Amino acid sequence: MLKDRIKSLAKAYKEEIISTRRHLHAHPELSFQEFETAAFVKKRLGEIGITEVESKANTGWAALIKGKNPDKKVVALRADMDALPIVEANDVPYKSQNLGVMHACGHDAHTASLLGAAKILNEVKDQFEGTIKLIFQPGEELVPGGASLMIKDKVLENPRPASIIGQHVMPFIPAGKVGFRPGLYMASTDEIYITVSGKGGHGAMPETFIDPVLISSHLIVALQQIVSRVANPKIPSVLSFGRIEGLGATNVIPNEVKIQGTFRTLDEEWRAKAHQKMLQIAHGIVEGMGGKLDFEIRKGYPFLKNDPELTLRSMDAAREFLGEENVLDLDIWMAAEDFAFFSQEIDGCFYRLGTRNEEKGIVSGVHTPTFDIEEDALEIGAGLMAWLAVSELAY
Ligand SMILES: [Zn+2]
Ligand SMILES: [Zn+2]
Repeated sequence: MLKDRIKSLAKAYKEEIISTRRHLHAHPELSFQEFETAAFVKKRLGEIGITEVESKANTGWAALIKGKNPDKKVVALRADMDALPIVEANDVPYKSQNLGVMHACGHDAHTASLLGAAKILNEVKDQFEGTIKLIFQPGEELVPGGASLMIKDKVLENPRPASIIGQHVMPFIPAGKVGFRPGLYMASTDEIYITVSGKGGHGAMPETFIDPVLISSHLIVALQQIVSRVANPKIPSVLSFGRIEGLGATNVIPNEVKIQGTFRTLDEEWRAKAHQKMLQIAHGIVEGMGGKLDFEIRKGYPFLKNDPELTLRSMDAAREFLGEENVLDLDIWMAAEDFAFFSQEIDGCFYRLGTRNEEKGIVSGVHTPTFDIEEDALEIGAGLMAWLAVSELAY
């Protein structure tokens, strides 16, 4: 049976996949600078025997594994390759050798898993019908998102996949398990940059200045009505301000205050409307109080919706592969992922690979200096991806 063959290959290649992950972990590169990583992936694909490899978006690849009757159906598998500007605090043999850069979001695991899946799929390509498109993308962590650039560079054309499957490590799920959510899953994200200008002066003489600190205080409170009074309560929305900068002193009112925040939601129409509403409120408050406003919204990734049918089928396939008890249901998560660009174009399924091991102390969240993964999970990372792809081709 193909499932058992894939399982035994994943087991056989486990050590190789782990050493690939360790190599990538030790040599992390920042978003859109994944030159060595891309060269490594290309070389490895060549060693596997995959020759149809096309360069995409500068440091990305699209590669094809053709089974029997290759035009019948195309399914894409996606991995991201970039690392983060974090100084790794783990003392492990595969610690980052590139000081200040760290694979703290597990993209090393995603790339190693997809290379493992590629090796498995290439070996069983006489046992499935259709084509598998492997997508190795740059720059997931940085706007505008490598996925959007890959799409601009026609990664979803020639041939066009019917669906795309991606995975992401999850340190809150024990290794050995995976998590899925059909339908709405992750949020859109926009960065907000506000400058409130007034007129500074001596703190004792309020009649001589226009206080941007007071205006900003009102503004931050007023903007929360976007979430509490304007948003449809059935659509999750978050507005958070994480930075206020007013460089005055106890008795010095500054000329301006800068504010930075993030807006996240799960509906594109509401997202656009919320932007307009925020601007309207901000202009009203700031100008009404005599100040001047500069309000910039930098649009990030769209919300991520998993295609319900594709995801339910993938969950069934995962239960067959891992057992009922190892497939979990996930809740909505207000973080963002640039996989959403793909799932806006074609049916997508983005699922979570459990990588937690409490006994070994592998519990840190992604984007922290102590993040690590239970490497046993990579056997599933590669095997399950291969199995989901062939299951979807057979559907
Ligand atoms: Zn991340
Ligand atoms: Zn990530």
